[in-house]
Amino acid sequence: MSHLADVSPPTACRVCGGGVQEFLDLGRQPLSDRFRKPDELDDEFTYRLAVGRCDSCEMVQLTEEVPRDLMFHEVYPYHSSGSSVMREHFAMLARDFLATELTGPDPFIVEIGCNDGIMLRTIQEAGVRHLGFEPSSGVAAKAQEKGVRVRTDFFEKSTADDVRRTEGPANVIYAANTLCHIPYVQSVLEGVDALLAPDGVFVFEDPYLGDIVAKTSFDQIYDEHFFLFSATSVQGMAQRCGFELVDVQRLPVHGGEVRYTLARQGSRTPSAAVAQLLAAEREQELSDMATLRAFAGNVVKIRDELTALLHRLRAEGRSVVGYGATAKSATVTNFCGIGPDLVHSVYDTTPDKQNRLTPGAHIPVRPASAFSDPYPDYALLFAWNHAEEIMAKEQEFHQAGGRWILYVPEVHIR
Ligand SMILES: [Zn+2]
Repeated sequence: MSHLADVSPPTACRVCGGGVQEFLDLGRQPLSDRFRKPDELDDEFTYRLAVGRCDSCEMVQLTEEVPRDLMFHEVYPYHSSGSSVMREHFAMLARDFLATELTGPDPFIVEIGCNDGIMLRTIQEAGVRHLGFEPSSGVAAKAQEKGVRVRTDFFEKSTADDVRRTEGPANVIYAANTLCHIPYVQSVLEGVDALLAPDGVFVFEDPYLGDIVAKTSFDQIYDEHFFLFSATSVQGMAQRCGFELVDVQRLPVHGGEVRYTLARQGSRTPSAAVAQLLAAEREQELSDMATLRAFAGNVVKIRDELTALLHRLRAEGRSVVGYGATAKSATVTNFCGIGPDLVHSVYDTTPDKQNRLTPGAHIPVRPASAFSDPYPDYALLFAWNHAEEIMAKEQEFHQAGGRWILYVPEVHIR
């Protein structure tokens, strides 16, 4: 298996057209959110999951692109509101927007990828004009049930132009865990340029390359995470489109994210945090190929240690299950070759995933409520980004002698 690519196929950067050098190959992977029914026998769609860095603008990105209609569709099973930590995270942000950016006459906020309305519901309750874009009609319907205005559509230049014509400029355009999903980011930024008020802000938050490298959280890499942003690469991308980075904020959610604030060039004074994060990235040599190749080496080490541990536990007759049938777990199970022989089931609270098989690895998904029936010896925690919330909820598992297996930042048992 060649997971450390020595020969880099030339790929064009989706931001600047420059050459992309590959540094990590995670092998053939399925769609990370495509849970199969046990009787589905058709061939599963797969693609090669590999990551590279642009030599010109330093943007880290996948080298193969999965068509968007395959990923974001009617049955997209991820519902943001499933976690109380995330509900509070977004309610706080909405209150912050209401207090700082949405204070003029008849303010207007647009969200790209509003999911089930987890952020916009607070805006709606405040009676402020808003519109959410959400191409996945299933989750969009959940937002609409909360009274949130949703357009079941992709946000891009043409749809943004349409909103500008009919509803006027937006004071805030916001996207959480969405912009990094979008390879055609140029069209999104053109749409933001068309729709944003002259003094408006475009705010987005996504997994941070600095955290991914520091924690070796390679499971942040999957079909939907096309870009792995850093302040450096976001600044470059913003400047190409007439924007600049005016604020950054590190966030502890989803394993480590950054909230980036862009404004039109010259319209706002950048905060000190921007210069600080850019300087820290330079100091860490975050985007250097040597750093990224060392990260790839750590990923292979985790794979080898995790599979060795699971084989040992199986040989000892221990029962091992997975906890959290996350999109991230698709990368781990398929890259490491973890199937039902090593992890007999995965427990998850999402009804749309239950009684189905995980993508690629085909591990049966069972309701989280059945986790205690009976407790396994070990639970591999795929939803490690919610570790504290889950471990508190499942205290009895630990008290009964059960142990958690984690693989970020290294393989360990808790
Ligand atoms: Zn580039």
